[in-house]
Amino acid sequence: MLLLPEAVDDYVGPDNPVRFIEAFVDGLDLAASGFVRVAAKETGRPGYDPADLLKLYVYGYLNRVRSSRRLEAEAHRNIEVIWLLRHLKPDFRTIADFRRVNRAAFKQVFREFVILCRQLDLFGRELLAVDGTRIKAVNNKDRNFTRGVLTKFINEADEKLADYMKRLDEGDAQEEKASNNGSCGRSDGKLAEKIAAVQGKRDRHKALLDELDRTGEDQISLTDPDARAMARMTKVGVGYNIQLAVDVKHKLIAEQEVCNQVLDMGLLAPTIEAAMDTLGVDRIEAVADRGYFKIEDIEACEKADITAYVPKPIRGPAVAEGFFSKEEFRYEPDKDIYLCPAGQVLSPRHFGKSRDNVKIDYVNRDACKACHLRERCTKSFRRVSRLENEAVLDRMAARLAAQPDVLDQRRESVEHPFGTIKQWMYQGAFLMRRLENVRGEFSLTALAYNIKRAITLVGVAGLIAAVRV
Ligand code: SF4
Repeated sequence: MLLLPEAVDDYVGPDNPVRFIEAFVDGLDLAASGFVRVAAKETGRPGYDPADLLKLYVYGYLNRVRSSRRLEAEAHRNIEVIWLLRHLKPDFRTIADFRRVNRAAFKQVFREFVILCRQLDLFGRELLAVDGTRIKAVNNKDRNFTRGVLTKFINEADEKLADYMKRLDEGDAQEEKASNNGSCGRSDGKLAEKIAAVQGKRDRHKALLDELDRTGEDQISLTDPDARAMARMTKVGVGYNIQLAVDVKHKLIAEQEVCNQVLDMGLLAPTIEAAMDTLGVDRIEAVADRGYFKIEDIEACEKADITAYVPKPIRGPAVAEGFFSKEEFRYEPDKDIYLCPAGQVLSPRHFGKSRDNVKIDYVNRDACKACHLRERCTKSFRRVSRLENEAVLDRMAARLAAQPDVLDQRRESVEHPFGTIKQWMYQGAFLMRRLENVRGEFSLTALAYNIKRAITLVGVAGLIAAVRV
């Protein structure tokens, strides 16, 4: 005992991250950030100060401890937590309630830290890399049903029921015949039981399908109703879609959002606009992968002064059949024509619609009839479609051609936070159910990632000094 320091403070060195956590949280205006119970009620026992519980959570997420029961245990045995909470020992219910009740406020705390890093000039604020990943929800894939799965099950159940009914009728007929002959007939006693079981399952699936018709959704999850079955190649099963906008200068997260949209299409402009707001810039460049390629989104980026770099996916029926891709046809904007690989002119002929856009088809039937490249191009005559507002995509393609390295910058920048969050921070699955709760959880995860990164860049002392300015 004589060898041990006398004060808890002696165990916590000047470069210990808990010293920054304390300074950072104490510097926040928690009421303005949306935390509840910031001021103690006049009656009853005063509750825990939200600042203390927020410190506990920031510490926990920074140290791979996310469950309320484990955080409670840390408050009893971990000298850093004992120092941070000044010997307070909240129970796990209080800890869990705090995260649930204040779920929306964590996003503001994340933003406050981005602003702090901005003051330290840790954000380049010139180029953001956007990407999405999927994180598993608290919902087994057996408890998720798509419209297709439900319809298939109901159809198969109907067929099975029809077969059972037929066998039941045949059994009745045989029984009747046997009793007429004076012999003893035998019916399948278990058949009625089987019919009841299949009928029960069918009714439950039909009720789920009716629910989908009522809500207009494509799938339903029973444990976490907001979670969605993600694309198969993600291997996540049922989960959430996490969007990150990462500043390429130091790979810090400028903006993060969780949604339950299965695809990334349409998420580029909203993610970057939110990041611009936090970074305090009027214009910025943004790079994303092919999954974000959507003309409406690219147009929205241009309108918001976002210079987007998104490579065009090579897809479409012509590509699927092994014919020339559209990229092999050159558009001449002055003449409003396409030049095909055989050097022929395709002119606008047919005007139609593609979603909300006007679509124009460019053709030259006569040239195709006599073309020596026809086998590599089309089965009859080639039609090249162009959207009325497609010039926005041409401008983006020209930018990408002039700056192909930007795609490598994207990969290098987004892989770091995703790798760190999933591998180092063990965030392979969410602990909570429902979208709003999961958003709160991920705000803490992204905050912890940024703190860890900023400590590497400027150290604990540098961060504490910035808080106290
Ligand atoms: S088939 Fe028609 S569009 Fe294709 S290369 Fe020949 S002329 Fe051009």
